[in-house]
This record gives sequence, structure tokens and C-alpha cells, in this order.
Amino acid sequence: MTDFTMKTDADGVATITWDVAGKSMNVMSTAGFQLLSELVDKALADAAVKGIVITSAKKDFAGGMDLNVIAQMRAGGAQAIFDGVMAMHGVLRKIELAGMDPKTRKGGKPIAAALPGTALGIGLELPLSCHRIFAADNPKARIGLPEIMVGIFPGAGGTTRLTRKMGAMMAAPFLLEGKLSDPKAAKSAGLIDEVVAPEDLLSAAKAWVLAAKDADLVKPWDDKGYRMPGGAPYHPAGFMTFLGANAMVLGKTQGVYPAAKALLAAVYEGALVPFDAALRIEARHFTSVLMNPSSEAMIRSLFINKEALDKGANRPDVPDQTVKKLGVLGAGMMGAGIAHVAALAGIEVVLIDSTQEAADRGRAHSEAILDKGIARKKVTPEKKAEVLARITATTDYAALKGVDLIVEAVFEDPRVKAEVTKKAEAAAGAEMIYATNTSTLPISSLAAASARPEQFIGIHFFSPVDKMMLVEIIKGKATGPRAVAKALDFVRQIRKTPIVVNDARFFYANRCIIPYINEGIRMVAEGVEPALVENAAKLVGMPLGPLQLVDETSIDLGVKIAKATKAAMGADYPDGAVDDVLFWMADQGRIGRKSNAGFYAYSDKGERLEIWDGLAAKYPADKVQPSLADVQHRLLFAQVLEAVRALEDGVLTDIREGDVGAILGWGFAPWSGGPFSWLDMLGAGRAVDLCRGLTAQYGPRFHTPALLREMAEKGETFYGRFGAEKKAA
Ligand code: NAD
Repeated sequence: MTDFTMKTDADGVATITWDVAGKSMNVMSTAGFQLLSELVDKALADAAVKGIVITSAKKDFAGGMDLNVIAQMRAGGAQAIFDGVMAMHGVLRKIELAGMDPKTRKGGKPIAAALPGTALGIGLELPLSCHRIFAADNPKARIGLPEIMVGIFPGAGGTTRLTRKMGAMMAAPFLLEGKLSDPKAAKSAGLIDEVVAPEDLLSAAKAWVLAAKDADLVKPWDDKGYRMPGGAPYHPAGFMTFLGANAMVLGKTQGVYPAAKALLAAVYEGALVPFDAALRIEARHFTSVLMNPSSEAMIRSLFINKEALDKGANRPDVPDQTVKKLGVLGAGMMGAGIAHVAALAGIEVVLIDSTQEAADRGRAHSEAILDKGIARKKVTPEKKAEVLARITATTDYAALKGVDLIVEAVFEDPRVKAEVTKKAEAAAGAEMIYATNTSTLPISSLAAASARPEQFIGIHFFSPVDKMMLVEIIKGKATGPRAVAKALDFVRQIRKTPIVVNDARFFYANRCIIPYINEGIRMVAEGVEPALVENAAKLVGMPLGPLQLVDETSIDLGVKIAKATKAAMGADYPDGAVDDVLFWMADQGRIGRKSNAGFYAYSDKGERLEIWDGLAAKYPADKVQPSLADVQHRLLFAQVLEAVRALEDGVLTDIREGDVGAILGWGFAPWSGGPFSWLDMLGAGRAVDLCRGLTAQYGPRFHTPALLREMAEKGETFYGRFGAEKKAA
């Protein structure tokens, strides 16, 4: 174990250097923590050591806790978690008190943290226990406590220390939103103390250590008469902060994220007691969050499995397929977005449309996004020029010479798509991989227009392309491994998360989301209060209710999809009741946000107002309304049963992709970790019971899939049955 090493120089400053072997980023393990503790003990006991600097040999300080540690702690149950967390508090508190006399607060050894780059999670909680934090002036560094993003909260003293250092109000964005800052912003917020030139980092920290006085080592909260900045809960100003924070958290999370509530409780209760008692309170709430299945599922999907997919977990074993030059056909909403994200990632792009004006409009879309970035100081004018210079907007297919990947995003019309496929294949080299961004047409049938169907694949983006992080890669019947590898390497280049699915109607994401929207609309037709439908969705953690969602994606698109689906399915088509509402809305000219009129009313400026009152005139609400849980079950089962069927049908081949794809693709209740994680939490037996009830009351669309029934009989979970071997693969 060499995660930490220590060296003492002639001036008596011991430098403890963090450098986890074989990893590009330091992460804290249990053994690492133990070693750090021993080195600190040694330095504090050594008369030759005057002070300590804790730093990293890597370009960054640390990425956080090794999540396996959290998994191990969880396996031991609540007491093991609590004991483990209290042991961490012990080490960090030892650093903070630094051997000083408990009464006089004198005689401690100064300890400074020197951060060369990124410092996240425990990578900031450790520095927060030190007496002074130095960071190198490295604009790429990210400093903060992102734990809340994966369903936990800073549980190694970060919550308690940051609140006491900054006050609850100022600490809120860092704790509750996981806000990350570069070193300069972190300093002005009060997260860290000094920003120095990278080459001066260690010398500045050492100089501070050598010059520090006893008083410099005493944290405000260990001093007599400490008052929390901004006021503790029973101070008038503090009262306002906590009242506001409570409402804000509940408004944002709808109460479904246990971590946000527990964090707030830890801050509130901790503020009323002395520091060491506050750490114990933090540890108890942290334990309860770790014991909550939601945090386990969120960490698994949003961190571990997302990272595995980002790294190409299901990539075929084919040599590197990094894209050097990309062709984009169709410079409309999607094509322009795809060209933009590719150019941003450093890829040369040829953007083709049927007229020069349309092609130029596509390039201007990228320019508009970059201009917004400049206004927000996120993009420099040089960067804008660089990105735009990579996009050639043209009507000339000959410009496709030398592209190694083409993404087609022309009209959703098989004839138009076939025509451009042929033209593009004639212009580009034989090695080129050809991808279509179709949202509804089967890849295998579009591939019929190609001379090289093994090089033909679906790369399905979500709108808006620059914001949505999921990309669905679809294998047609003839798609070969190099096409899959190319698509995955491209998605990695543009830093999005891929899932790889097989070809079937609506692939994976749309297959699940359409039944969600339809269930919401069906309820309106039945006389369920639209507000109940929308709020039930939000209260179970869906970012948008089904009616708002169809307003956003547009009702005329819904009509188009419904017509095409009906034509394909014939007598089996199950959604007539939905179409009545949808078609009537379209007939009223209410086609969603883009027409400023949909299920919701909108102001002239396009702000969404309340549910449109004309809806109640046509579809009056019943006197007796269903229970909230009933509405929620309908909305959730409409989605998750489709996900299970996609797995049964072999459209999905990896439940990790099913879960990560659902959260990133359509915002499926992130607290749950995704549809499969949610079913695991519920238990297959209970899921089958609920399906039975829903089927009896609402119809065969809620029939229990055979796989789920079998799992209930055997007492299996999805991650128990499908998770392990996939993770090992
Ligand atoms: P769009 O109408 O905004 O853009 C299509 C563009 O293709 C237009 O600029 C048009 O001029 C151009 N075009 C048409 N025929 C052409 C030809 N023969 N040669 C060159 N250019 C031609 O449509 P969009 O919303 O960007 O959708 C494009 C594709 O992406 C469709 O297949 C759609 O199903 C799919 N898609 C759309 C979304 C979405 O939310 N809009 C999401 C995922 C996938």
C-alpha cells in the first residue's frame, strides 16, 4: 500500500503525497485512509516535524471516495457504516486539531493542503479538515462536493465543515446542487483559501506552514463564542435560510430524493449542537442514506454503470475507430446539433443540405450556441472561431470525400433517406460507416438502400442534441462490429453516453416513453384531472408530466407517430382512446409549445401557464378521482413493462443500458436508478401483483411479461440475474 508517502525536508516540513498506483486519479480507499492516519500520527509525534503539507503527485488532487468502499460498508449493515464513517471523522478531526492542547488550543502543528488540480468529494473534505487550503491556478480543475448528484451527500465532515465555514445559505449550492468551481471561483466563494501559480504551489504551502501561529490553526467552530455565518436556525436570519432551503429542496426534489432531505436535516440539527456532536449527527444521516436502496441504485446507474458504458463496456473488439472527418446529411434541427457537438469535440464536419441557405442555417445554429456560451463566459471568441472553422456547410456531396463517418438526419421519409444514402455512398470512400438518425424507421429496412449494409447503423440522438447526454446506437440485422465500434468511438469523442440496442419499432427509449405519454393522455380521456396526472408524475420523480412532455415534443409529431403505428399494426393497434384526444387537440390547432397552445396554456412570450381550460369542456373530470398511487403506478408501469419487454425481445441486451438509458434519455425517475432498479426495489412479486390489479382494471397493456412472472416465482432480481455476469464481462 503506497497510496500515501511522506518525506520530511530540512526545514522540518513533512510532505504527505497522495499517489494511488495504477490510477490516473486518486480515490480514497479504506486502506488509504488508514495509511494517511498513520503518517499523520507519525508526523505529529516526530519532534523534527514542524508542520505538514498534504498534496498529490498526480495532476489532480483526488476524484473522491472509492465507491467500492461504500459498497463494502453497506454490506456490513447500518452499524458497520456508522462505525466506518465515525472512524473517518476521527482521522480528519485529528488532522484538524493537529495535536494541540485541548484547553489552551496551543502547540498544534500546522497542516496545509496543496491541490494541484481537481479535488472532489473526500478530495475536498480532507482539505477542509486542514488549516489552510492552497490550490494551483489551474482553470481546468474542478473543486467541490458532487455527492448529491449520485444520491448521497458529503459524509466525511464536508457537510458540517462547509456549513460552519460559509454559513448554510452560501454552502447550499455546493452541498445541495453539487456545484463545482474552478480554483479562482472556489476561492472567491470561500471554499478554499489561496490560489497560487502552479509552480509555487508547494513552496507557498510550506511557507505558510512555517509561518503559521497557534491561532491560525484554530478553526472558528473550535473557538469560544463561535456563531454560524448567516445565523443558526433560531437566529432570525438563519430561520429564514432554513425555511427557504426546506421549501426549495422539497420543490426541486418533490421529496423523492432521500439524500437531499437527509443533508438538510444534518445541517439543521448539526447547527444546534457543538461540532463533534454535529459530526455524529452527520454520520447518522449519512448512514440512513447509504442504507436507502435509492442511493445504491443511483450510484450504480449514474456513476458505476454510466462510466462503464462511457468507456465502451459493450464495444466489439475492433481496432480504434476514432472519427477524423464527419459528414452530416440534413442541416435541420438534428443535423445542425450533431454537426455542432462534433465540431466542438475537434472533428472536421461537412454539413450538407439540399440548399446552401439551409446548410448555412445549420452552421449558424452552432454559431448561436457558441455566442450564448460567450455571453455566459464559457466560450472564448477564439474557441468559437476554431469550432466554426471545422464546419463546412455545402450542398456538394463531393465534399464528403475522406469522411470516415456519415450521420444522416434528413426528413423522416424512407424515399428521401434511400436517395441520400446512395448519393453519399457514391461520394465517400468504401471504408466509410453510414449512420442514420431516424427515430422511427427500422434500420434494417433503411439499410436496403446501402451497398454495404454491414457498414450501416443507427445513431439516434435526442433533442436538443447539445444538451441531451444519451445516444442510442441501433444495430440492424446486417450491421457489423466495425460499425458498432465506430459509433461507440464517435459517441465517446463527443462525450455522451451510448447504449447499444437491436433494431425494433421505436428502438428502446421511444418505445418506453410513448406509452408513458399515452397513459397520461388516456387518463385525461377517462376523466382523470389533468393536474392529478401531471403532479402524480412529478411526485414520483419524473421531470415532466406526460402532458407537458407531449407539449414539448409536439402534438403533431404524436399524431404522425400514431398514424404510422396504426398503419403498421392494423387491428392490434391499442391506442384508439389516446388518438381521440391527440387528434382533437391537433384539430384545434393546439400542437404544443411551438404553437404556444397545447395541453397547457402559454403566455404570448411562450411561458407555460396552467392546464388549458378548454380541455375540461371536452373531457370533463369525473367527480370521483383515482388515488395518487393508482395514477403513479399506471404511469410507471406503462414505462417499465415496456423496458422489460425490450429485454425479453432482445432489443436490450444489458440492463445497465436499460437503466442508464432511461435516466439520461427521458429522465425516468433518477432516484430509482432506472426501470430495472425500480422493479428490483419493488420486488418482482409485488410488481406481478400490481400488474394483475392494473390489468383487471385498465386492460391487457399491463399484462405481466413472462420474464417478470418467472422472476417472481424464483424470487429473483434483475441485477441478481442479469447484472453480475454483465459487470464481469
Ligand atoms: P428537420 O426537418 O429539422 O431537418 C431535416 C433537414 O434535412 C432539412 O434541413 C432539410 O432541408 C434536409 N433535407 C431534406 N431532404 C434532403 C436531401 N435530399 N438532401 C439533403 N438535405 C435534405 O428534421 P429534424 O428534426 O432535424 O429530423 C431529422 C431526422 O432526425 C429525422 O429522421 C428525425 O426522425 C430524426 N430525429 C428527430 C428528432 C427530433 O426531436 N426532432 C429526434 C431524434 C431523431
